[in-house]
Amino acid sequence: MAQVVVLGGGFGGVAAATELRTHLPSDHEVVLIDRRDDFAMGFAKLWDLAGLRPISAGTRSLRGLERKGIRVVQANITGIDATSRHIVTSDGGFDADALIVALGSRPAPKHRQMLEAPGAHDLYDVAALPAIRTAVAEITTGRVVVSILGGPFKCPPAPYEAALIVDGLLRERGVRNDVEVVVTSPQPMTLPVAGVDASRYVASHLDDHDIELRAEHRVTGVDADRGTVTFADGELAFDLLLGVPADALPEVLVAADIAGESGWLEPDPSSLRLVQERVFAVGDCTRIPTATAQLPHAGVFAAAQGRIAAHNAVADLTGSPEETFDGHGYCFLELPGEQVAFVEGDFYADPPDVSLTPADHQQFLRKQAYERDHLAAWFD
Ligand SMILES: Cc1cc2nc3c(=O)[nH]c(=O)nc-3n(C[C@H](O)[C@H](O)[C@H](O)COP(=O)(O)OP(=O)(O)OC[C@H]3O[C@@H](n4cnc5c(N)ncnc54)[C@H](O)[C@@H]3O)c2cc1C
Repeated sequence: MAQVVVLGGGFGGVAAATELRTHLPSDHEVVLIDRRDDFAMGFAKLWDLAGLRPISAGTRSLRGLERKGIRVVQANITGIDATSRHIVTSDGGFDADALIVALGSRPAPKHRQMLEAPGAHDLYDVAALPAIRTAVAEITTGRVVVSILGGPFKCPPAPYEAALIVDGLLRERGVRNDVEVVVTSPQPMTLPVAGVDASRYVASHLDDHDIELRAEHRVTGVDADRGTVTFADGELAFDLLLGVPADALPEVLVAADIAGESGWLEPDPSSLRLVQERVFAVGDCTRIPTATAQLPHAGVFAAAQGRIAAHNAVADLTGSPEETFDGHGYCFLELPGEQVAFVEGDFYADPPDVSLTPADHQQFLRKQAYERDHLAAWFD
């Protein structure tokens, strides 16, 4: 009997474990290890902020995977020896015949520290949601700044979606004329990964809502005493700062010493294999170069990669055919009023062959269905 171990129960790990259970012979064991007990999609945070739906409604216990025959271990992973595929956790050790690493990313520590200033919050931290909601509900004058603090960061459209949500909430309360909304980004345009047209599309929606966009603004710090964001060449006062920290590699992966020169796990873009035998890496803990930058850190990609890595782990153990990840994927760009645009295409093409389908309600329903169908397939 072989044992396949999946590290991480987020998008990539849950997709991988489910696919493994479907394709591995039943006498082989699938083990998923995560310190958390629950799963929710990233965009559910913004639905909560917008008042569309509480995040709890889109949260599922990882224990639901056990009904499919996946062993779920809730434990902290403290050591990984990729060569021997030996894993150390707070709940003992595991020896894997094949290993899929899907540990995601953590917020860059220097950005987390910046966001400890009064009036500042990590927009991506689910624990910060109640405080963010209260702050947006209470502000009556001044300036809300949504700041992308560095890269790579998760889900490139999300900061702009958040700014539009804040705009809508301020309008509902009748205070928008007295509260400025500004988005800052170190990048030259809103969505470089999706190209110039998609970036203009986002910028025009910000403009329509009187949201100021400050591109090419690299944040160098947050002055807690003065309540300002500082840039290489200036500063901006805020009354409420919603910061998007850059992603950083999880500490246990730094300690495992399996990152490439980029500082990230660098699997083969097609097979998701690392150089160690029968070891795969997927999702936000990886850096997969594209012709213009890198594959976005997004759940849709992590899940697609998780499925391919699972197939290839099964191929290694049973001799079944391999599969390849071809770089096709999409990102949702949600606009106010239950409208969603799609950024979709071949991210591996040179140059990336990615285009934007303008927002409509049908695509909002497609986004809702993506969540509903995946939660049902994984956890029910
Ligand atoms: C506000 C917001 C909106 C988003 N919107 C979208 C969207 O519309 N579309 C989209 O595709 N993506 C979206 N994303 C991005 C998406 O959520 C991530 O890209 C995705 O979760 C990455 O999946 P992953 O499996 O690589 O990592 P994760 O989902 O982060 O999973 C990693 C798992 O590893 C576990 N872990 C890490 N270290 C350890 C350890 N030492 N021990 C035990 N467990 C550990 C964690 O607990 C976690 O459960 C959004 C993100 C945010 C924040």
